[in-house]
Amino acid sequence: MNIKILGTGTSIPSLKRLSSSYLVTIGDYRILIDAGPSVVRRLLEFGYTVEDIDLIIITHFHVDHTADLSTFLFACNYGIKPRQKPLTIIGGPGFRRFFKGLSKIYPWIMPNYYELCIKVMSMHPFELNDITITARSVNHNRESIAVRIDAGKSVVFSGDTSYSKRLIELAKGVDLMITECSFPERKVKGHLNLANLARIIEGARPKRVILSHLYPDWDDFKGVLHEPYLLAEDGMEIGL
Ligand SMILES: [Zn+2]
Ligand SMILES: [Zn+2]
Repeated sequence: MNIKILGTGTSIPSLKRLSSSYLVTIGDYRILIDAGPSVVRRLLEFGYTVEDIDLIIITHFHVDHTADLSTFLFACNYGIKPRQKPLTIIGGPGFRRFFKGLSKIYPWIMPNYYELCIKVMSMHPFELNDITITARSVNHNRESIAVRIDAGKSVVFSGDTSYSKRLIELAKGVDLMITECSFPERKVKGHLNLANLARIIEGARPKRVILSHLYPDWDDFKGVLHEPYLLAEDGMEIGL
């Protein structure tokens, strides 16, 4: 399993940190986690096109996690060669309604030549060959989910959340946890800071932790992060 960190930022426009998004490669299967602004361009920068993605998982509907979903699907129809490979998109509760609304505004995102499967994640794991995807709702929006991918090794993506017991359960013993830690110290509803994250890590005990979804507060952070913590940077790559 290989994880490429496409973006580590938030809704605040930044040249250093694009909206949080990740690319998971398992064999020749590719999963895109979230599709915020400019993710399609960011994929190109790292040598991928929309054609390379087999599955998109949307952790919640905020614009910094979904703005490029329509860009992505439009490119599938009107690229140099129209997409023919099937695509699955998974979201939390209400995702079908969200997608229906999006396709009302942008009818051109509906697939022309390929099969599109829209799935709403439930408590039950979603199995694909040797890959298992599990989700749990977390504390941010009604539809917010954290996602775990197991394929020999395991990775958890927290999505946006505040302290969450369900996230602890989901991330128990995982090889890698890529978690939001929006602020080092500031307390903001629906997000984590280092103190709240520490309570989650204590409970879940992941082997490695990468902090992402970083607000500019982090630019002034003078502290030191110790193992297993690592601050994410756009373009970082992790092999598991
Ligand atoms: Zn966000
Ligand atoms: Zn959000």
